[in-house]
Amino acid sequence: MMIDQEENRRTLCSMSLGYTAYHVWAIQARRERRYNIARIFEASSCVKRVRAERAFQGLGEVGSTGENTSRALDGLEPHTVATGPVTGTSSISRDLLSRATRALAEGRDLNADEIGDLYVCSICGELLEGDPPDVCFTCGTVREGFLPFRAAESMGNLGPYSIVRKIEQTPATLRAIVEGLSDEQLTHRVDKHSLKELIGHLADMDVVFRERAWLILETDNPRLPSAHPPTLARAAGYNTQKIADIVDAFQTSRQQTLSLLRGLTPAAWHRTGYHVIFGSIPLTHQGNWVINHELGHLIQMAQIRHDLLQKHEGLGQMKLPSNLIPEIFEGE
Ligand SMILES: [Zn+2]
Repeated sequence: MMIDQEENRRTLCSMSLGYTAYHVWAIQARRERRYNIARIFEASSCVKRVRAERAFQGLGEVGSTGENTSRALDGLEPHTVATGPVTGTSSISRDLLSRATRALAEGRDLNADEIGDLYVCSICGELLEGDPPDVCFTCGTVREGFLPFRAAESMGNLGPYSIVRKIEQTPATLRAIVEGLSDEQLTHRVDKHSLKELIGHLADMDVVFRERAWLILETDNPRLPSAHPPTLARAAGYNTQKIADIVDAFQTSRQQTLSLLRGLTPAAWHRTGYHVIFGSIPLTHQGNWVINHELGHLIQMAQIRHDLLQKHEGLGQMKLPSNLIPEIFEGE
């Protein structure tokens, strides 16, 4: 009994630390737009969470909610113990991380043909790659009990209705962000990019999204153009244009995109295209992709607006918190 509890304490410490490490690394990989490598970290983090939770249960620290509330108020203070390494501890984990290392050495994400879908057994934390077996090899849990980390959902899980609602809102959000700012403020570059350039960039990306959506709807599993979507680096020309023209251009493009998407059947949203990083993905993936990309830049722009209005004397010294700069690479 004592030995079991010692083992549970060691597992709780080790798995909690591993969970945090993998979780934060996953966030960073997404920020660098390395989505397949982020999936490795996310699945690995989930493995650690499942195992930490089992150990925590095993320590007898989970009762009724009434008891847990008392425990929480008393200030739960588990013993900490030495753990040894907390990451890269299984052979599948080392295999996945080695593949990631090789791709990163070539300055890229893993491609779709270099990593399969990942699953984590929700009961024992076994990590599986590829088509899932009927039951977990380790504990016999049925596949319905596996937690999926699939490329098709790696951009989010919004369905058609939510996707259309979200992308409808962007033009109004953009107008609110530029409202009342001077041309000097709108062209001022913060961490390399001005508000004008960022909005121009969103218009460029909307065109890419619409072209891909059109290909998916009109042809069978087309290969999606992915090598050179317009990167932020190409948005510099927008700084010499009028803000009203840039915002109008975005709105016009977005309206064309919306007329393509409105009223599509569920079957149409599940048509697929082939993307070199993500593999065969449904149109919903691309909807989540454009929303994900836009959201990152909208937060960044709201922060720039806030800072411009707070301290317009010190224009030269503005610097965004690094976690508000969504992309280092904009290639996917
Ligand atoms: Zn299992």
